[in-house]
This record gives sequence, C-alpha cells and structure tokens, in this order.
Amino acid sequence: MLETPKNLTRNILLGMLFGFLTGALFFYVNVFPDNLTDFLTKYVFNLGSAIFINLLKLLIVPLVFFSLVSGISSLTSMKSLGNITFKTIGLYLGTTAIAVSLSLIIGSIFKPGSGYSSNIAPPENLPQGQGIYETILDIFPSNIIEAMANNQMLAVVFFSILFGLALNKTNHLTNNFSESFEKFNTVFMQLVLMIISFAPIGVFCLIGKFVITDGLDIFQEAFKYVLLLILVLVIHAFITYSFILKIFTNLNIFTFFGKMKDVAIFAFSTSSSAATIPVTLKTVQDDLGVNKNVSSFVVPVGATINMDGTAIMQGMATIFIAQMSGIDLTFFQYIQVVILAVVTSIGTAAVPSAGTITLVIILQQFGLPLEAIGIILAVDRILDMLRTSVNVTGDAAVACIVANSEGLLDKNLFNK
Ligand code: ASP
Repeated sequence: MLETPKNLTRNILLGMLFGFLTGALFFYVNVFPDNLTDFLTKYVFNLGSAIFINLLKLLIVPLVFFSLVSGISSLTSMKSLGNITFKTIGLYLGTTAIAVSLSLIIGSIFKPGSGYSSNIAPPENLPQGQGIYETILDIFPSNIIEAMANNQMLAVVFFSILFGLALNKTNHLTNNFSESFEKFNTVFMQLVLMIISFAPIGVFCLIGKFVITDGLDIFQEAFKYVLLLILVLVIHAFITYSFILKIFTNLNIFTFFGKMKDVAIFAFSTSSSAATIPVTLKTVQDDLGVNKNVSSFVVPVGATINMDGTAIMQGMATIFIAQMSGIDLTFFQYIQVVILAVVTSIGTAAVPSAGTITLVIILQQFGLPLEAIGIILAVDRILDMLRTSVNVTGDAAVACIVANSEGLLDKNLFNK
C-alpha cells in the first residue's frame, strides 16, 4: 500500500480559507505598508503558487506516459482496448454535447448580455486560438521529446499508446519487460502523493494570490453571465452526471460525489485538469474502484479532450457576446456552436484560461467582436476554477461507466 497524506481534504479546505482571509485582509484593509503587501504578494503567494504548479506539471508527462504504457502493455486482449477506446471517446463527446446544449438552452431563455453595454477596454493582445487542422496534426508528433517538452498531451497520449502496444506484443521476447513499467508507475504514484501532501500550502498561495490581486469586485461586471454560467455548471455536474451514472451503472451517486471532493477542490484551486491528473487517477483507482487498465487510459485522455465545463462557458459566452452586440443567433447557428464547442474542447489545453483562447475560434466563426473577450477574461478566473472542477468530475464519471461496463469496477471498493 502506498503512503497517503492524512486529513488531506480538511487541510486543503483550511489552506483555501486562510488564503482567502489573508488575501482579503490585505486587499480590503488598507493598514499595511505597501512594501509588506508587495513582498507577500510576490514572495509568498506568487512564488508559492508557481512552485506548487511547477511541481504538479513536473509529474504530468511521466505520469501519463508510465500509467498509459503500463495499463496498455498489461492488457490481455486487444479487443478490450478497442471497446474501452470506443466507449470512452463516445461518452466524452456525448457529455460535452449535452453540456453545451444545456448552456445554450438556458442562455437563450435568460439572455445574458441583452441591454448591457460594456466599458471594459479590449485586452491588448488578443489570444490566438488553434485551428482544427493544427489540433489534428498535433496528435501525431514528429519528435516525441519535443512533444513532451512542450506538454503536447494528445501527442504524448498517442505515443504512449503505440509504445504500450509494442511492449505488449513483445513481452514474450523481452522477458516481460512491461513489468518494469508497472514498477515505474508505482514509483510515480508515490511521488504524486509526496507532492500532494504539500497541497494545503499550495492552495493557500493560489487562493491568496487570486484575492490579494483582484479582490472580489470583479463580479460586478457581467453579473448575469457569471450567475447563469455557474447555474449551468452546477446543473451539469450534479444532474447530468447523476443521470448518466444512474442509467449506465446504477452506482450510488452520493458515494461518487462524496469521493470526488478532493479532486474537485484540487481542480478548483489549480484551474488545470492536467495538473489534477495525479489526484484524479488516485481517486478513481483507489476510492472509486476503477481498474488500472481503464483509469490509466480514460483519465489522461479525459483530462486532455473532455472539457464539459469549458464547453458550457463557451456556449454561454457566445450567447452573452452575441446579445451584447445585438445579434440573435439562429437555430442553425446554435447547432454550429454545439459542434464547434465539442471540437474545440478537444483542442483546449488543460491549463488555466485555455478555454477563453479556444473561444476565439467560435467567436470568429460567427463574426462576433473579439474585443468582448476582455469582459469574459475579466471575470474568468473564478469561473475557470469552477469549470475545471466540472471537467474533472466528467472524466471520473466516464471512467466509472466504462469500467463498470467492462466488468472492471470494484464495487466493494466503490461502496467502502
Ligand atoms: N482550465 C480548464 C482545464 O484545465 C480549461 C479551460 O476551460 O480553460 O480544464
């Protein structure tokens, strides 16, 4: 059994609370000398957050590589890999389509942005979105070291699958070399736990940095957009996922959500599905009872391509900006938004704010004013935290469904 940190959830919540209080104290109570505030912002909050995020990122490539390779190389039948892939991708795309549709339905009923006129200046450098062509080409790396160095996760996933398959086919010639990869995987999981034990401090810095720089005023802008977006995120997280879990698995949804706490909090504080992979993997395997052969494929792939929360934001933002510009989208355009949001969410990097970058692709498609992204960015930080929690919850729900359908879910562990 690997050594796990004790009272992690409680400590992370405490870290969050103290970060919030300290940030608010310095932002709102103006009794501290400026150089103390600057020092705290730079050397405690900024530096602490950056170190913590770096340590998490440090794990992503090796963890995805070793977990995928060890999972695939130990599969006994290739047919089961085919089934798992087919179900995983189908569920990921399906849930994302539901997510964005939900967002468009609620958005078109409540119309955020109508009668709203913004005085927020456009950002100086508009983020550039990546096209569909580049997204597809990026899956096939010409240099795996370069792909790993640049954190191109789709490329890393692709190479790891190929490598795992080759390892699987040559086990009889290499004296079961794949076992070494399983050992590496165990070592990396332990490394994950070691780094995660610092999470309460990391979360303290992340939340403190957020509040000490921006305070909470940001919410006044685009209030209706923020509120509606949060509403759809909550509906999707609790109703859609409960619904699909019930239909496909009959598992207890309260147990599922209860066990997902750490993962959701982690995604919330890091705003990155990729940085959350270590925690998602651990929870899905050790607490939800998903067999390693399934989780090692479904979780990294999900963190990379499955972004329901992001698609929800993109749907709502499109309606918000269209309304602000006095444009009513047609039914056909709504359908186009659904398709585009599903496709762009695949190409969205699992890092903070990436969803606002791919939003550009959708806005451009409809000739909507790109400057409006300024308003979206102004309120995006907290929304990014929330939608990332939804993104990772979706990955875990799909992992449970796929594992259950393959008979690879340990129900005793799930219910424990
Ligand atoms: N931060 C999100 C994630 O990592 C992506 C986004 O929507 O910006 O899942």
